[in-house]
Amino acid sequence: MALIVQKYGGTSVGDTERMKNVARRCLAAQRAGNDVVVVVSAMSGETNRLLKLVAQITDRPDEREQDVVVATGEQVSIGLVAMAIQAQGGKATSFLGHQVRIVTDSTFSKARIKSIDAQPIRAALSKGHIVVVAGFQGVDDEGSVTTLGRGGSDTTAVAVAAALQADACEIYTDVDGVYTTDPNMVPAARKLDRITYEEMLELASVGAKVLQIRSVEFAMKYKVPLWVKSSFTSDPGTLVCEEDKSMEDVLVRGVAYDRNEAKITVCGVPDVPGIAAKIFGPLDEKHIVVDLIVQNPSRDGRTDLTFTVGKSDFVKAQEVVRQVARDIQATGIETDDNVAKVSIVGVGMRNHSGVAARMFTALSAEGINIQIISTSEIKVSCLVHSKYTELAVRALHTAFGLDQPLPPEGAATVSESAALKGEKV
Ligand code: ADP
Ligand code: ASP
Ligand code: MG
Repeated sequence: MALIVQKYGGTSVGDTERMKNVARRCLAAQRAGNDVVVVVSAMSGETNRLLKLVAQITDRPDEREQDVVVATGEQVSIGLVAMAIQAQGGKATSFLGHQVRIVTDSTFSKARIKSIDAQPIRAALSKGHIVVVAGFQGVDDEGSVTTLGRGGSDTTAVAVAAALQADACEIYTDVDGVYTTDPNMVPAARKLDRITYEEMLELASVGAKVLQIRSVEFAMKYKVPLWVKSSFTSDPGTLVCEEDKSMEDVLVRGVAYDRNEAKITVCGVPDVPGIAAKIFGPLDEKHIVVDLIVQNPSRDGRTDLTFTVGKSDFVKAQEVVRQVARDIQATGIETDDNVAKVSIVGVGMRNHSGVAARMFTALSAEGINIQIISTSEIKVSCLVHSKYTELAVRALHTAFGLDQPLPPEGAATVSESAALKGEKV
């Protein structure tokens, strides 16, 4: 008997009919001979609704109390899904995060899972129950409710799968797999049969919200076979897996975008050792994650330092940086939240040259100005004005041959041989 963890996102439990569909799918998996644990999200739009309620009370919410509010969406879903399973003749028990001891750190609104108690889940499974676990929420050492960041139910599912050493973790959503780019933005996007953990990690980190980044980290670390599938079709979906030789043939596996960043420039910073630490240290103390960073060459002993933070941290980051700018006697700060990050990702980049150059050419052909560039071994990101997001994504999708049907794995691509003639990144 196999143990499967299935996760259903907000759209998949968006109304009671859809919850009945989820119940049917869980029962079918159980009838096929599996133990089934199902992790569910809040009904679509519910987490946003709860966050709006918070915003109507205050624009500086206490993060502990905010988590108390936003974690409630999942409580409704697990109860309803458990009852939908029972109404169809099955046995089901629901559990909130604290009831299966999903213990996290105390970083409210983006807490990290430390451990899970598999025992209550195993006990219910052994009685033939389908176990329904609330996604997105946990509890810290003090017993306070925490949440795992937007999209956090994916992470709950993979962490539960890792704790139970499940045979598979299946993420059911509103698209039938991982695509070359967001299929809701680019109709020419193509579904991938397989993607490596590393590529998925990079795509998730640069904005492809189909999987939360932490879920991919967990899957990679604990070698959980991770599937992305549709809750509305029987398509086999996409397998996120270890890399093998044939997967290096594709230069760029996917294109992603992220409109959730904002840019801060500290102007006229004295160009002396220790200044970067003085700026980024206080941001780190406030748990503000900094993404892209660029420092201009200094002129007359002063330089400009630009970086991006998540939009949800933008107000907090400006307050911190304004204070630091005064302390270090910088001339001022400038801010801009009309920015978007567009990125290309592929393990093939490791062995092939010319990828970044081709990206810049494609963007410039559309008249798109690049504000910041950042690269890793298998990724190139560019920050652009947000009004160009869709144009940039489409241009890159075309430039890297992703509009065409994907070649069978193992076959060298035209784009690869062209790139081999290019210059090194
Ligand atoms: P859920 O509510 O099921 O967790 P999400 O909205 O979080 O679903 O994630 C699914 C969405 O991710 C899709 O509807 C799609 O618009 C978006 N998406 C972005 N990039 C990709 C990609 N490369 N492949 C598939 N979906 C993507
Ligand atoms: N309900 C949470 C959110 O909307 C968690 C999730 O859906 O994964 O972000
Ligand atoms: Mg999601």
